[in-house]
Amino acid sequence: MWLIGAGPGDVELLTLKAVRALGEADVVLIDDLVNREVLQFVKPATRVIKAGKRGGSRSTPQPFIERKMLQLARGGLTVARVKGGDPYVFGRGGEEVETLCRAGIAVEVVNGITAGVGVPAALGIPVTHRDFCRGVTFVTGNARAGAGIDWRSLANSGTTLVIYMGLANLAGIVSGLLDADMAPSMPVAVVQNGTLSTQRSVVSQLDQVTEAVARKGLISPALIVVGNVVRFAKCNEMQEVSRKRA
Ligand code: SAH
Repeated sequence: MWLIGAGPGDVELLTLKAVRALGEADVVLIDDLVNREVLQFVKPATRVIKAGKRGGSRSTPQPFIERKMLQLARGGLTVARVKGGDPYVFGRGGEEVETLCRAGIAVEVVNGITAGVGVPAALGIPVTHRDFCRGVTFVTGNARAGAGIDWRSLANSGTTLVIYMGLANLAGIVSGLLDADMAPSMPVAVVQNGTLSTQRSVVSQLDQVTEAVARKGLISPALIVVGNVVRFAKCNEMQEVSRKRA
């Protein structure tokens, strides 16, 4: 059984190992966030099953996916479960591997480029540029999962904040950071479908980003990047890239 990360979108960001594993699979369980172009690497006879979870819309329940994986693997088939980004970064890969291991099925995890680094890079944002921050924090912005998030310590961490699954809760995230005394002028980028030909983005600042995103009508999946490194973003909204040291 393979658990494969397909990267953030652009099919060329697949790893060589992912391509090999896809080519060996008898059955592929593909998450709905994954670019269908990855299926060019499977054998013609390979069965493809769609399975996925996407916040806020119809999705395949996780227990069903896990049962299906068990059933297929027990049938002696080589199964490839393909997920967006990296399977272990907000991807429930940990839960799936745990279930399979308990059932005595060996799983090999193939890393993928997580959206948190691949998507900012698509805009030219270096998430850990040392002149601007001392690291990067990956955090969920999902209102439920993120209910207990300590925005004050994040705002004061000196790290770039990369927020997954946060678009629906953007206003709440912004007010959490403003309440924590983050500068209203802090640069923020919101990127939809990063690394794909359908990529759309907004580059703004903390106190204006909610309105800017609404105006442009960005929808999920989208990533939010908060921090001075966002000054490097190449995008239509920002003709003049200001690289002044903060
Ligand atoms: N395992 C994945 C993350 C799954 S959670 C990874 O490592 O990337 C799903 C969230 O990831 C989305 O809500 C969005 O915030 C982010 N995301 C994934 N792909 C994206 C893309 N191409 N563009 C923007 N955001 C993306």
